[in-house]
Amino acid sequence: MRMFLWDLTNPERDGALENDVVSHENTHGLTNRMTGGGTGRCLQSTEAGGLGEGWSDAFADWVEKSDGTVPDFVMGQYVTNDPAGIRTHPYSTDASVNPLRYSSVKQLNEVHNIGEVWANMLHNVYAALVGAHGWSATARTDPTGSEGNVVFLHLFIDALPLQPCNPTFLTARDAWIQADQNRYGGANKCTLWKAFASRGLGVNAKNHNDDSTVPSDCQ
Ligand SMILES: [Zn+2]
Repeated sequence: MRMFLWDLTNPERDGALENDVVSHENTHGLTNRMTGGGTGRCLQSTEAGGLGEGWSDAFADWVEKSDGTVPDFVMGQYVTNDPAGIRTHPYSTDASVNPLRYSSVKQLNEVHNIGEVWANMLHNVYAALVGAHGWSATARTDPTGSEGNVVFLHLFIDALPLQPCNPTFLTARDAWIQADQNRYGGANKCTLWKAFASRGLGVNAKNHNDDSTVPSDCQ
């Protein structure tokens, strides 16, 4: 993993000293290897590359939690010496803080910007799962719990090999739903659908048009 000096400050700051940057970069290694059969060549389309950036921010978000609250999360505050960090918005459950939705992708063609849409959806999925199941302080080293942050990371990882090569928002979402079916018998199906649908990735979403519909048995 190659880490770099950031030249936004004087003296320059080392990305290797900021945990969320390290977590972000490490997660590229994970998502590239686990998506689409392990070729390492399945996050090549612009949308799939965007998902890749999104998973990396979402994992950094997960790692940075120290209790069961779900505060807004900002990437890259240290390397920039700026509370606004390196993204356009904080990741937030509050749509007035982060208004990004599935349809936002229509206006975007840069992978980090597309990734912000996906990472914010996953921030909301995380908040929903922690709200439903609580939070484990030992999740970083103990994957056996039933708490929401443990469930989130299992589904995050399980979904990666279930999705096709060059996944889209739609197929990546479907992989989370399938992962929950496989591991938890679909116990979180409605929690997941509601979180995705809250940001436009509902049942009938397609072609980067928002939809807030959830399955009929989740209404
Ligand atoms: Zn990245």
